[in-house]
Amino acid sequence: EKAGIDAGGTLVKVAYEENDRSIRYVKLTSDPLESVAAWIRNELPEAQLCLTGGRASRLLNLLGRPAVFVSEFEATCEGARRLLEQGGKQWDRFLLTNVGTGTSIHIVSREGAARVGGTGVGGGTILGLSRLLAGTGDFGSIVKVAQAGRRDATDLKVSHIYEGAVPPIDGNLTASNFGRVEETIRRSAGLEESAVFPAEDVLASVIGMVGETVATVSVHAAGQHAAQVIVYIGSSFEWNGPLQEAVASYTRFRGAEPYFAPNGAFSGALGALLAL
Ligand code: ATP
Ligand code: MG
Repeated sequence: EKAGIDAGGTLVKVAYEENDRSIRYVKLTSDPLESVAAWIRNELPEAQLCLTGGRASRLLNLLGRPAVFVSEFEATCEGARRLLEQGGKQWDRFLLTNVGTGTSIHIVSREGAARVGGTGVGGGTILGLSRLLAGTGDFGSIVKVAQAGRRDATDLKVSHIYEGAVPPIDGNLTASNFGRVEETIRRSAGLEESAVFPAEDVLASVIGMVGETVATVSVHAAGQHAAQVIVYIGSSFEWNGPLQEAVASYTRFRGAEPYFAPNGAFSGALGALLAL
């Protein structure tokens, strides 16, 4: 029995082989890590373990049993390569953007893989800003609420600035994330702020900002490293239509091809499993 475990900043992803050799995927919250160790002791008492991710060495201490380590970036790129292969997607060269707690960008080709960039804007930003701005810290609720939101009151589009004139770029592009707030307040004098900016609109804008930032950084990296396809992975995309939509449309607008790998959040865990 073998298991690959990616202990990330927010979630622990596990990929393990069933008796029939099919692979099972499980996700647990990283906090408290003691519960993760207990889960592994109960569910995978005999398994050979390969650990990766920022919390791997702490998890190893809690487990008190031998395990192999593999670097997070190596595991993520190897696992993503395998997931793509399984899905019948075989690109010689692609950019891999992992939107976890933070965002990490890699170039993957036949020659190997290398980290080429990243941004602190990621899934943790969605959770943190949603908590501060709307009092919601639960990922599922954030996405559900955001789905009903509109970004019009909060986000300033190019067309808002170029009102009545022909803009030099697509007027539908965001000129300034959250840049319309003051103007909206002025236009709605007397109304309660909570009525002008309902939670669903604020959360839609938070997710929009994260998506546009991630996609912007990614298309630049893709251009620099001659990649046409950008593969997006990480738990931030799971069941998250608004984030996928923001990322996909901006990536396409900039001439690259986005792909959301099914089970992409388990790339690191699968890569760790493959390393055994
Ligand atoms: P990192 O790789 O940066 O160390 P990680 O591996 O823990 O972090 P992921 O699991 O890929 O990161 O993604 C974490 C993000 O996914 C969260 O910040 C949140 O936006 C989103 N998310 C999806 N499902 C959940 C969930 N059940 N609980 C908390 N966050 C979730
Ligand atoms: Mg991770």
